[in-house]
Amino acid sequence: MAKDYAKTLNLPKTDFPMRASLPQKEPTTLAQWNDGHLYEKIMERNLEKPSFVMHDGPPYANGNIHTGHALNKIIKDMIFKNKNMSGNYTPYIHGWDTHGLPIELQMLKKHKVNRSEISDVEFRKLCEAFARDAVNTQREQIKRLGCFGDFDNSYMTLMPHFEARQIEIFGKMAEKGFIYKGMKPVYWCAHDETALAEAEIEYEDDECDSIYVRFPVTDDKGLFTPVTGTLKNVYYVIWTTTTWTLPGNVAICLGPDFEYALIKYGEDTYVIAKELKSAFEKEAGLSDGEIVAEFKGSDLEYTKASHPFFDRESLVIVGDHVGLDSGTGCVHTAPGHGMDDYLVCKKYKGIEIIVPVDNKGRLNELAGKYNGLTTGEANKAILADIKESGALVAVMHIVHQYPHCWRCKNPIVYRATEQWFCSVDGFKETALEQIKKVKWMPEWGEIRIENMVTDRSDWCISRQRLWGVPIPIFYCKDCGKPLINQDTVKAVSELFEKEGSNAWYLYDAKEILPEGTLCGCGGKEFTKETDIMDVWFDSGSSYAHVLTGKKGFEFPADLYLEGNDQYRGWFQSSLLTSCATRGVAPYKSVLTHGMVVDGEGKKMSKSLGNGIDPLDVVKEYGADVLRLWVSSVDFTSDVRISKDILKQLSEIYRKIRNTTRIMLANLGKPGEDFNPDRDMVPFSNLLDIDKWIVSQYNDLVARVREAYDNYEFHVIYHDIHNFCSIELSKLYIDITKDRVYVEKTDSLARRSAQTAMYIILNGIVRILAPILSFTAEETWQFMACDKTCRKESVFLNDLPSYKEEYKCDKLDEDYNKLFAVRDDVMKALELARAEKLIGKSLDAAVTIYGEDDNEAMKLFREFESELGTIFIVSKVKLVSGKAPEKAFRDTESGIGVYVEQASGIKCDRCWFYLDETKEDGEGQHLCARCDAIVKSVSI
Ligand SMILES: [Zn+2]
Ligand SMILES: [Zn+2]
Ligand SMILES: [Zn+2]
Repeated sequence: MAKDYAKTLNLPKTDFPMRASLPQKEPTTLAQWNDGHLYEKIMERNLEKPSFVMHDGPPYANGNIHTGHALNKIIKDMIFKNKNMSGNYTPYIHGWDTHGLPIELQMLKKHKVNRSEISDVEFRKLCEAFARDAVNTQREQIKRLGCFGDFDNSYMTLMPHFEARQIEIFGKMAEKGFIYKGMKPVYWCAHDETALAEAEIEYEDDECDSIYVRFPVTDDKGLFTPVTGTLKNVYYVIWTTTTWTLPGNVAICLGPDFEYALIKYGEDTYVIAKELKSAFEKEAGLSDGEIVAEFKGSDLEYTKASHPFFDRESLVIVGDHVGLDSGTGCVHTAPGHGMDDYLVCKKYKGIEIIVPVDNKGRLNELAGKYNGLTTGEANKAILADIKESGALVAVMHIVHQYPHCWRCKNPIVYRATEQWFCSVDGFKETALEQIKKVKWMPEWGEIRIENMVTDRSDWCISRQRLWGVPIPIFYCKDCGKPLINQDTVKAVSELFEKEGSNAWYLYDAKEILPEGTLCGCGGKEFTKETDIMDVWFDSGSSYAHVLTGKKGFEFPADLYLEGNDQYRGWFQSSLLTSCATRGVAPYKSVLTHGMVVDGEGKKMSKSLGNGIDPLDVVKEYGADVLRLWVSSVDFTSDVRISKDILKQLSEIYRKIRNTTRIMLANLGKPGEDFNPDRDMVPFSNLLDIDKWIVSQYNDLVARVREAYDNYEFHVIYHDIHNFCSIELSKLYIDITKDRVYVEKTDSLARRSAQTAMYIILNGIVRILAPILSFTAEETWQFMACDKTCRKESVFLNDLPSYKEEYKCDKLDEDYNKLFAVRDDVMKALELARAEKLIGKSLDAAVTIYGEDDNEAMKLFREFESELGTIFIVSKVKLVSGKAPEKAFRDTESGIGVYVEQASGIKCDRCWFYLDETKEDGEGQHLCARCDAIVKSVSI
């Protein structure tokens, strides 16, 4: 019977499956990490190493995670893993932002909670339950992505300890004089007597009078009189649909770049935007006016008019919010009744904010004779008066869209109310100085935040809501003065630390305040502030809760990392509270990522149907493919994701997996073949080509480590992908097949190749671990480890480092050149195969022609004995001189290559063709090499 020589070959063996089946397998790996307390073991291993402090910005606890969260959390996780595998102690605590309006709205709208039927505390408890639920959901989803962290100690802004720190920060800011009370317009429902948020507004049709009113010019800065001769009968004409707000008028706002015309209509001269002349005339029933002069809006700034029915001046100002779509281009400005008005007036010193309307929507004493009227009544009364006085230029009854309260469906009013502000001016200089000391990545981030902080106005921190941290201020019942000092802050923060902020709603001021608290006026009775803080104040205080100074949690953090929308948000609010209370930024460096967009660069939206749900990706491909996607993008700008992109990535994943798998298989199953502690060949004894591949890998390690430290994961992704597909798959693994399969199991030649593969596999698995966490762990478990490794988990090992001893410049240069010209030979072999001249490449004999001074030829002569191995052919002959017609001559290097079926007899074991073989007596042939090997093993 013929002998089966294949049995004497060292064919690849591994139990590591070709098919990844990530969606099924990953949950098992997660359970192992969890049950094995891997996070705790990582921390324990690194306890003596220097801290690198990362502080998690809290996502909002609402709904499922989306691709933006996945991008954010996976980037953070890759940094976490890199740091903990490269000489740092980096614990990680995930956080959640749990207060705020969206949760309140969910409770009210979706869960149909009726606020009038339950107490404040009950309502807050419902909100808390909702938030905790959302946190639990998101936490599990984030874990499923393979993200590590101290999940038992996650932080939430609703935690008593957190709230207590926030109160301390507020107290410190108040102590330094940075907190003050001011006016700001809000949406106000007079029926419900409450402020409304933008999200609580519904637009409905509303009937109203659209009126044009003229304001006599009192100061023209000398601009009009040269034309008009006098200011008598010269007017600015404004337009409004809310007549009742006229008592609040303090200014007329023009567009700085628009053209304004002085137009004569008989006796009267009106100033309006030139472009609106005919529209105005149509509405006012005026016939062709004569333009007597024109001015740019900005020229008219600081001219003055007088209020049409109060003895008060109305200053002419300019603002970019002025439009030309309706009206006159001269905007009635009442800063107590509108946000644009408020903001533009804040830019002018000395403009008073007048709010002539009360909580119930009735005009107050500031409205003079209209005191006591409802806004509806005031509309009628004022209209009648200005008609009579002649100030009314025109009136039309119209139906327009007007904001209404979502609860009671009544029209709302804009009304400035008292709010707590943080005076950013008080510490802006410090913040700007600190910005310069922080490392911003990308660099343009510095300019962005610097501009934002420079331009920002004071921070309105009060919200007329319930679900949040109360503003810890008391009011004297006798004189009404607010009370806040170190003692009251201490009392509140200690109470919150113990009982959480619900205590604010459970106890009277008396029960909260220290005994004997007195107001400056001698008053002993106090009430509590009812506003809560802006949620940005919550999250902007997170460092105080997390960065406690414990090992790994030192303040300031080494790194904050969020989406680039957070220059306006968390980076800024954290910077402000920290500069105000500690005089320094809470971070040493800030890294940002872009937003996730679809394959065409468009924003994802439900209506376009172009959204990608990370949970679906995990179900279809596994978390590792999503992680590979994160590593593949340059996240400093917006990043694309689509079904096609994911499909391509899953193929690249397969390429990487198969490359590591073939190396695993070439090393054999642990305990059966290569034992690194026994079989490793010292580097200096490796075969040249093995040295070459280790040296290539060593260079890769240097590049990858640098890229990890610079957070350039896409560089790692491309480098690893190239290394796997070119150096390893296309060259090294193919070229060494013969040695690994055919040579004697424990021969130096074979162990040399295995040593190279072991070094590379062991290193690449570690390099991949922060990115392909599940796959790296799986591979690690199938790999024989040497005694320097911690077998339990790849994450309990360090990333490989660049090694001087692996450096071999001359060898690298030679082989790199050789492989560059190898392509010409490989092309000729491919053509021969296509023409069916040969089957397998070992069937081939190759003759290479070239002039003696040809560089490729010189190189080939130098490597002559290795060429058969490198081209994976049976025979190679080098011939000086011009190549004959029959040779393949279309080469880069100028050589000619002739391929033919190799002569001689094929060895039945290694498949090389040789001129001399030995017949084994049963019709099979063996070459001398194989014959010797076969003799030493039993079949
Ligand atoms: Zn209402
Ligand atoms: Zn008092
Ligand atoms: Zn052989």
